[in-house]
Amino acid sequence: MAPNMTVEDLLSSRGVPLRVSVEEARVAVAAALMNSSPSIERVALDNALGRVLAEDILSPHSLPPFANSAMDGYAFRHTDLAAASEPLLQCVGESRAGQRYNGRLAVGQCVRISTGAVMPADADTVVIQEDTQRSQDQVRLQQIPAAGANVRKAGEECAAGAQLLSRGRGLGARGLALAATAGRDELRVLARPRVAILTTGDELALPGQALGPGQIYDSNSALLHALVIDAGAYPLPATQATADDPQRLLHALRRAAAAADLVLTTGGASVGDHDHLPSLLAEHGSVHFWKVRMKPGMPALFGELAGKPVLALPGNPVSVFATFQVLVRAALSALQGLAPVDPLRWRARLLVPLRKTHKRAEFLRGIHNIDSQGQLWVRPLSGQESHRSVALLQASVLLCLPEAEIDLAAGALVDVEPLFARPESEVRL
Ligand code: AMP
Ligand code: MG
Repeated sequence: MAPNMTVEDLLSSRGVPLRVSVEEARVAVAAALMNSSPSIERVALDNALGRVLAEDILSPHSLPPFANSAMDGYAFRHTDLAAASEPLLQCVGESRAGQRYNGRLAVGQCVRISTGAVMPADADTVVIQEDTQRSQDQVRLQQIPAAGANVRKAGEECAAGAQLLSRGRGLGARGLALAATAGRDELRVLARPRVAILTTGDELALPGQALGPGQIYDSNSALLHALVIDAGAYPLPATQATADDPQRLLHALRRAAAAADLVLTTGGASVGDHDHLPSLLAEHGSVHFWKVRMKPGMPALFGELAGKPVLALPGNPVSVFATFQVLVRAALSALQGLAPVDPLRWRARLLVPLRKTHKRAEFLRGIHNIDSQGQLWVRPLSGQESHRSVALLQASVLLCLPEAEIDLAAGALVDVEPLFARPESEVRL
């Protein structure tokens, strides 16, 4: 690099986009990492929580597979009672769950039946036990149910061969239960991207160690480790935070790149004298973009080293969180061959006025409330600086403000991203 030339000048002279919008950054990350043939592996059903299905799951039989009772009671033929002078049936046997009644029913006969038991061939209706009085084999109906009542018909949920779950579905408890309903004990899922987490900074000590003067604990490792798992990826065991030293950083980056599908770093990505990541990547790898028009998270950089993608995130924990939501999740989706999923956003009314004079997209930590009318309200937390991890914990939503300057009155509508709702999403492959 020529003397007096900043890394920014150098990257700019190479045509590297600087200060990109959030959307441009997301598109660039997805485009660079979109994997058209992601690896697929088989996992046991019990280990598939949080994984993404790599196959369609079809039902091997109709659901329900046979007509069965929805209640505990007595199964009978409805027309028998229409012809009878009294609502009286004779109980001739039992159909219990897993053990059907194989006999026939003559006119005026019924069988004791439990929930989930196969309906006898001649019966079409179940009277619930609470609406009957039994004496020996005589069953008197106190209420006569409608014809067909309390019976779950074969195939009423789906036919044999119907698709229950599709490729690309993130697997939560409900999806796993449906796969089990289809008799599957093993599933084909996308391999989880391996993510190296490299925290950097001379001031960092690991939790559990004694703090020296001017030191703070490395909380980004714990934050990213958990977020990576939450995003369905595999965090490689984090090592000691790396010092703000170019040689050591380069060495650590190379090791991380050799082991991972994606390298995440925190700290040292800005323009300070001890921020070495931009120049290291510019010199030994490549930079796709540097700086994103977002607050917090501006210094984020996306590049490559030793053929592996590197997302260099800022050091402040709140910036790490915001850039993870916006950029890292997009990167992890693309590495699995998944189209980017738009973050879940709801519209909420501001409880207080809000003014923003800068021209970056902003992600404020907020607390939501739903009033008795069902209206969603949001209040930005005080203490929005990006080192405030306590306010980050308190937040139940991220308020997502667009780039434009805004001057909003209380009651105005804003976008919020819930931090508490994790739907079992279906994503496009
Ligand atoms: P930097 O991006 O290196 O300028 O760091 C910005 C701020 O984030 C500084 O106050 C750092 O001390 C802090 N910071 C950097 N890395 C971490 C980390 N791993 N855990 C907690 N705070 C950090
Ligand atoms: Mg630093």
